[in-house]
Amino acid sequence: MRRLAILGSTGSIGTQALDVVRENTDLFEVYALTAGNNVDLLIRQAREFNPDAVVIGNKEKYTLLKEALADLPIKVYAGENAIAQIVEAEPIDMVLTAMVGYAGLQPTIHAIRAGKAIALANKETLVVAGELINRSAHEYKVPVLPVDSEHSAIFQCLAGEWDNRIEKIILTASGGPFRTRKITELANVTKHEALKHPNWEMGAKITIDSATMMNKGFEVIEAKWLFDLQPKQIDVVVHPQSIIHSMVQFEDGSIKAQMGLPDMKLPIQYAFSYPKRIKSNFPRLDFTQYPNLTFEPPDTHKFPQLRFAYEAMRLCGNMPCVLNAANEVVVDAFLREKIKFLQMAEIIEKTMQKISHIRKPGYEEYVATDREARKIASALIHE
Ligand code: NDP
Repeated sequence: MRRLAILGSTGSIGTQALDVVRENTDLFEVYALTAGNNVDLLIRQAREFNPDAVVIGNKEKYTLLKEALADLPIKVYAGENAIAQIVEAEPIDMVLTAMVGYAGLQPTIHAIRAGKAIALANKETLVVAGELINRSAHEYKVPVLPVDSEHSAIFQCLAGEWDNRIEKIILTASGGPFRTRKITELANVTKHEALKHPNWEMGAKITIDSATMMNKGFEVIEAKWLFDLQPKQIDVVVHPQSIIHSMVQFEDGSIKAQMGLPDMKLPIQYAFSYPKRIKSNFPRLDFTQYPNLTFEPPDTHKFPQLRFAYEAMRLCGNMPCVLNAANEVVVDAFLREKIKFLQMAEIIEKTMQKISHIRKPGYEEYVATDREARKIASALIHE
């Protein structure tokens, strides 16, 4: 029986993680659930899974949550510090980090220091502070298991190959909703168009990141830290069908791919049950339904965010943190219809140029960088 803390239980990954638990109650038990604002869903989840504790990020919702669960022996907390503290509870074996954005960093650090295995969905954590996370995970002997489908694919390809060197990895990208549009057509795309992902149903922020290919850029950085790779060992190829989830090329030229229908439940379950595979009822891939699997190079002229990610990774230090903070600000502004689609890249680039580069930041410097980058990006929006 693995005891889980699910951070971001009300989101796309969080609810699918609970689907996996629901199907495998003999293997997994929920110890803690945390959410940001969606108190109604958190209450329903708490009533169904009966965790030891629940935490709501927004403190204003505390009383509502507490009263709604008053008849149950569930501990109720609120606020970001409470989320960071709950992951340290002794009975927890594994923490699924499925919060969105920079908010995932602090609880992930706490979970690692408390010796909990990490099922990592929150890629922003590794983008912002990959070096710090790797160092801590190493020090506390904690496994960081990827949930992102591409990284889970690579991880699955590497099973049994730990002593064999990777020549390179090939991350597949769907290309998002604007793959076939001309750059001139992107100037006036709406948020509703950007939110229509062709293959995956995800939270709003990552869906916009997919439309700009920032998501793939983040995944490149995430892969660097998860698999200890140099930038030149990480390729991206656009594969619109999202059947091959990613590939590893070894030194003898052999390439291994992991495939399946696009369904996040599989990589979530793999991280939960690792190193075992457990039986599932997820729909199976029928190759005859996919006679054409196609591949094309990414267009970094149209989607400069992917280029920015390689640049931030090359500069390293606090630059990926700047990239992430600026991106969170512009995505939020785009979703609130304050800026246009192409302005997102412009503001990120300017923010990266304006900020001072720190080569070896510690935790406090990441926090300061995040704050400063957000300030610069916000000011650029209002210029
Ligand atoms: P969602 O927006 O659907 O869910 C985010 C979750 O985080 C919600 O439970 C939300 O709570 C909670 N949350 C947001 N902000 C805060 C905060 N400040 N404090 C506490 N909780 C907060 O996102 P996704 O599930 O799509 O993505 C989650 C993470 O997983 C992201 O990092 C994403 O990049 C990654 N990921 C997602 C994939 C997907 O298929 N969705 C695939 C691969 C990676 P509430 O809703 O209650 O406000």
